[in-house]
Amino acid sequence: MALVTTPAVVLRTYPYSETSKIVRLATRDLGVQSAIAKGVLRPKSRFAAGLELLSEGMAQLYHRETRELQTLAAFDLLVLRRELAQDVGRFAGATAQAELMLKMAPEAPLPGAYDALTTGLDALRAAVPDAVDAAALRGLWLLLGALGFAPALGSCVRDGTPVPPVPGGGQVAFSTAEGGVLCARCAPPPPGPATRLPAQAHRVLAPPHAAAHRRLLARFVRHHFGETSNLPALDFWERHAWSSPLPSAIPAPAPSAAS
Ligand SMILES: [Zn+2]
Repeated sequence: MALVTTPAVVLRTYPYSETSKIVRLATRDLGVQSAIAKGVLRPKSRFAAGLELLSEGMAQLYHRETRELQTLAAFDLLVLRRELAQDVGRFAGATAQAELMLKMAPEAPLPGAYDALTTGLDALRAAVPDAVDAAALRGLWLLLGALGFAPALGSCVRDGTPVPPVPGGGQVAFSTAEGGVLCARCAPPPPGPATRLPAQAHRVLAPPHAAAHRRLLARFVRHHFGETSNLPALDFWERHAWSSPLPSAIPAPAPSAAS
């Protein structure tokens, strides 16, 4: 058994006993791991308040490869990310990323996916309200790529013909089954079975296309993970249209009383 210190993000927590929790962690050095945090719910626990959904810290794990449940010895908080839970769009995007990581990452070092996850979570945290949808989509695509499911976007997935970006909001054909764009020769003419991907959707995500783009990403994921896979966070993110309140609809802060 080795004591391993690694950056880790809390993907899920389950109560275990009156005083303990089981956590599912994305770790940078060991992939996704389950660990028991003994005594975490005691008033003077050494874990303090850090073991929350989406928080990140330096985890010390007593790790044994043959064991399914590791023991968490310490979790020194780096980032809490509590603000993600205060906005439904940010939270939906963040939990969809956490779910992909949980379901797809192996119990093996995967630093690229770990970095994609933390980058994606921080981008969601920092995004201005209008950019939350785009940040969620970008983060999910980047994470999928780091997990080995990158769609081919620059050239035809079937024959390699370069597919240049279409200027002016045109659309390119995208095959979720083959995992990439199709050139004009390979794409069935509309309304063929291929999904239309807004041009440059992987780089420029125009808000009017966001719902279609969410559906496309979700279909791509289900195709690769299995149509029947249980992905409730991804479902929620895909189906729920939330609109951030317009700036004018936010009540202006009351002028503070002169003091
Ligand atoms: Zn082609």
